[in-house]
Amino acid sequence: MISLHKEFLGTTLPDLIIPVERVAHVQVRNNLEHSLLVLTKTGYTAVPVLDAKYQLHGLVSTTQIMDSILGLERIEFDRLDKMVVEDVMNKEIPRLSLSDSVEKGLELLVNHPFVCVENNEHVFEGILTRRSILERLSTHFQKLNK
Ligand code: AMP
Repeated sequence: MISLHKEFLGTTLPDLIIPVERVAHVQVRNNLEHSLLVLTKTGYTAVPVLDAKYQLHGLVSTTQIMDSILGLERIEFDRLDKMVVEDVMNKEIPRLSLSDSVEKGLELLVNHPFVCVENNEHVFEGILTRRSILERLSTHFQKLNK
């Protein structure tokens, strides 16, 4: 257990995050049709919502988009190009700062598959995923077994 702690002690959030240039995202004013295309093509359940200055506004998911076009008797696909991301996105999201500890990230990942990371000016820097933490853990245990 002590060596496991050491493994993470020298690790900072910037070492673990997927950087902004590799994160699929949509913009606040994009329409829902574009967003659904991004989500479907990438296969991700949710992606960050940014503005032109790369400030983080929230997350949007396929479920939120589909829910917003559900009519009483049919799915109203014609509404997809009339609504924009900021009409449906989730603004209440957990956020991490680049200087936060890995422990804080771990705590948030218990309830979220990924958490957005921003700098001091609230500019989006990337995401911390459960996968990156689990990969680190898995490498550690493989080393122990050698
Ligand atoms: P993973 O831990 O890789 O399974 O990712 C969990 C979730 O994080 C995915 O379903 C996406 O919502 C999000 N995610 C992971 N990688 C990316 C990426 N490169 N761009 C955007 N979202 C991502």
